[in-house]
Amino acid sequence: MVFSMPVFLAHAVALEAESAVTYRTLADAMETHNNQEVAALFRRMADFSSEHEAEALRRAEGNDLPRLKSWEYAWGKDDGPESWAIAEAHYLMTPHHALTAAVAAEQRGLDFYADVGRTAEDPAVCALAEAYVAEETLHVAALKEWLAKHPSPKAGWNDDPDPPNCVE
Ligand code: ZN
Repeated sequence: MVFSMPVFLAHAVALEAESAVTYRTLADAMETHNNQEVAALFRRMADFSSEHEAEALRRAEGNDLPRLKSWEYAWGKDDGPESWAIAEAHYLMTPHHALTAAVAAEQRGLDFYADVGRTAEDPAVCALAEAYVAEETLHVAALKEWLAKHPSPKAGWNDDPDPPNCVE
């Protein structure tokens, strides 16, 4: 794919918008899990993504961004690289699982920006993609610190003696 500035910005906007939605979903999952601390972290990450999206939109100002169909994005018709199946926000998801998913998602976003930074022909696109890489690197590092504080739960964490779909 040829990453002109508008095409790159369209990707960044889509990626960050999806990421914000997903972080808010994970924050809700952590709230039902009564982990306000991790919920607050995810709300902050959602805000970063929204700010990032707004920043990309500001750069595009005056230029119409291409309206890509879902399958026209570089990452194909699946969700963006910074997103993961919302179904994974299992109602029993522990902070460890949520943070693991968040790290993986940020890493996919980072890899996407790094790839554009390496391959785009327009030096302005490369420079911007590299700036985004630096930002995502901070996000990955912050999430990994949190993950270290929330090690993997004991086996059996997802054995629920009273699943929600069970007819009483
Ligand atoms: Zn990020």
